Amino acid sequence: MWRYNHTLSEWEGTRIRNELQKDRRVSNSHISRDPRRRRSARVISPAREWSWQGPIVDHHIHLDKSGQGIEAAKAFKASGGTSILLVHKPKFSSLPIDGEGYRAAYSSTLEMADHIRKKVDIGVGVILGPHPVAWDHQADEIGVQAASEIHLEAVSIALDHVNERDAVGLGEVGRPHYAVSEERWEYANDLLIDVLKMANEDDSAVQLHVEENGEETCRTIDAIRSKSGLDRKKTVRHYAPPNLSDTFRSKLPCTVSVGRGSITQIIESWNEGAAYWGMETDYLDDPRRPGAVLGPRTVPRRTKELCDEWIGSGKKEQTLDELLHRVNRDWIESIYDWSPD
Ligand SMILES: [Zn+2]
Repeated sequence: MWRYNHTLSEWEGTRIRNELQKDRRVSNSHISRDPRRRRSARVISPAREWSWQGPIVDHHIHLDKSGQGIEAAKAFKASGGTSILLVHKPKFSSLPIDGEGYRAAYSSTLEMADHIRKKVDIGVGVILGPHPVAWDHQADEIGVQAASEIHLEAVSIALDHVNERDAVGLGEVGRPHYAVSEERWEYANDLLIDVLKMANEDDSAVQLHVEENGEETCRTIDAIRSKSGLDRKKTVRHYAPPNLSDTFRSKLPCTVSVGRGSITQIIESWNEGAAYWGMETDYLDDPRRPGAVLGPRTVPRRTKELCDEWIGSGKKEQTLDELLHRVNRDWIESIYDWSPD
């Protein structure tokens, strides 16, 4: 999804928060209300520390050879990241108008993935598909019928790549995240049923780009999924808010956009749902908008933040270790039939 609302850079935000947390820890640990204990309190054992040693995966990231490209992947790795799900980035200024155009566009995403595997040595799973906003734009230009035909052809080509296993899923497909006419909305929903039916026929996982409308979003998406026959566990809502309860997400898997404050909410809600989830940036790698959405270092940093907050609140290390194994390996294997290692 495309949102541009960051004021502080991600790095700045993380640094400031870390400073604040440090201050809080210091003031809590060595100041005792009882004056007799103040002196000895200075030598209390340091706060328990634990860090995750397994894989760290950004579940939804875009890279662009005219942007940071491979340098962003290097920054991700340098921060502790080990694998990405690289999602095809549409070029809205010149959208493909036929199958040939989509084949070429997908090839450049696949080339980028190969390049990163070789030069950066991280795991890369590719997600290919036509963006629903591209469909909406084209519907304005060439009519909804023609736009839908191109869209479904693009889905079909993407699924060929999934079948050949040079891609691991279809996406991002979905529906516009902004208000459109009622007629366009109905069309988008009907089209999505067809798209998910095609994914189901090829047993492909799907990453969904949708609007944010509370519980209603996942409830209606799950109804569409159900009509299409696609397995719930393969229907991943991307750019999800950090609410992991099954009620909120109708038991759909989701990848949470890990902006500021998300870790606290993840810790609060992870136990209220059994459905799969992951962490994503939706980094856009857009040279015209540096700093738009979250940067490529964000998921490794949030993972560390999750460990610190979890351990700091006295929760069990083993529970977090098991959870991070599921988030960064088991659930990915189960959804995409692809191992991030
Ligand atoms: Zn995206």
